[in-house]
Amino acid sequence: MAGELRVTRLSGSDHVVIVGAGLAGWRTSEELRRHGFSGRITLIGDEPEPPYDRPPLSKQVLSGKWPLEHTTLATPEKIDHANVEMRLGVGARSLDVASTTVTLNDGSAVAGTHVVIATGARARRLAWYEPNVYLVRSRADVRRLIARLDELSPGDAVAIIGAGFIGAEVATALKSRGLSPVLLEAEERPLLHVLGETVSQWLRDLPANFGVELRTTQKVEAVTYRDDPDMNGDADVIFEDASSLRVRAVVLGVGAQPNVEWLDDSGLLLDNGVVVDENQLCAPRVGAVGDVASFSWSSDTHVRIEHWQVASDHAGALARYWMTGESS
Ligand SMILES: Cc1cc2nc3c(=O)[nH]c(=O)nc-3n(C[C@H](O)[C@H](O)[C@H](O)COP(=O)(O)OP(=O)(O)OC[C@H]3O[C@@H](n4cnc5c(N)ncnc54)[C@H](O)[C@@H]3O)c2cc1C
Repeated sequence: MAGELRVTRLSGSDHVVIVGAGLAGWRTSEELRRHGFSGRITLIGDEPEPPYDRPPLSKQVLSGKWPLEHTTLATPEKIDHANVEMRLGVGARSLDVASTTVTLNDGSAVAGTHVVIATGARARRLAWYEPNVYLVRSRADVRRLIARLDELSPGDAVAIIGAGFIGAEVATALKSRGLSPVLLEAEERPLLHVLGETVSQWLRDLPANFGVELRTTQKVEAVTYRDDPDMNGDADVIFEDASSLRVRAVVLGVGAQPNVEWLDDSGLLLDNGVVVDENQLCAPRVGAVGDVASFSWSSDTHVRIEHWQVASDHAGALARYWMTGESS
């Protein structure tokens, strides 16, 4: 794709429609203004809240150090200053690339001259997924989890399925709340396939230093909640070998998958995300940024990286290219 999509520089009569009101979407609007874009910007988000930062959710917020409001990225003053039209609480259903028109779930359509895809990723569910299990991806998820944690007593056991970054952070936060987190990992060691033998060996011993119990090679088959008042919302985690663990809550942290289904009929190249070129473009007037973007890593490899700085860099790169024609 490199070099195929020529620059169409933005002018004041253009209208940029950004889909996804998370970090990457919000940063794109800020970066466009920083580069002097004076045209319309519409930011569409399916969450009801203005853009916020996710990293503190599993750290400062879950451990009780920050209220959720501290994670807000786009305050009313900043939105006003950046002159961004917000369409929150309604998701995008489809994209017509030729006319750069986004159709929303309420049936309305927003036609722009340029579209930015910034729909991020969602928490991955396993085959046995049970809606009473807690996820940690959004403010709504964390609000719900904290409401449950507030009902628990010191020392109560909480299972965290998945000993990756999010699982480890959740376990640490729960420990600091006086609970007894049990980290359940399907592999022999945490993050074995991500960080390799040496680091994962070191990680295996780390939780104990923080008073967190880590159980490896624990393949969860199901989580069951009985419709029994005595169970009081408690759950049984059932393992592959039919053994079980009773806990007061279960948190699932097994990675994320890109939100691309709304683009199925768009004709864009989708391969573990939206495939973009070196300027974040996937069509002449359509770009993709952040967790949803699958970008070139080497001449023949594309990767999708769920990282705060990467999302911010994508936003800066696309805005710069559209405003100046310069690649980052
Ligand atoms: C708990 C947690 C902790 C993290 N900690 C770190 C960390 O310590 N360091 C780090 O570098 N990174 C961390 N990350 C990752 C980092 O937060 C992400 O890389 C970053 O949020 C990506 O931003 P984004 O805007 O691309 O995607 P998102 O933040 O996922 O935002 C996408 C937005 O688009 C919305 N959306 C989805 N589909 C549609 C649709 N069809 N229509 C409209 N809107 C839609 C979503 O609901 C969401 O609001 C963490 C993530 C989580 C969840």
